Amino acid sequence: MQYYFFKKRSAAAHIWTGTDTACRMYSTGGMRKSGKVYDSHGARRICSMCKGVIGYEKPSVNKLELSDMTLYLW
Ligand SMILES: [Zn+2]
Repeated sequence: MQYYFFKKRSAAAHIWTGTDTACRMYSTGGMRKSGKVYDSHGARRICSMCKGVIGYEKPSVNKLELSDMTLYLW
């Protein structure tokens, strides 16, 4: 998978689909075009909108984590 991000390490990495970011911020002008496409996300956090678009994280995993947390709290 390819990623689009800026040099700044605190910036999130967007998932690159080949012509646009998965969240479409690139083509809609929602972000500067001074970033680059990389083959790795470089340990950056991934843009949550991009993740949602391509199903990077399955919702069931989050639910599991949530129920584990609830069990722990109780
Ligand atoms: Zn994104």
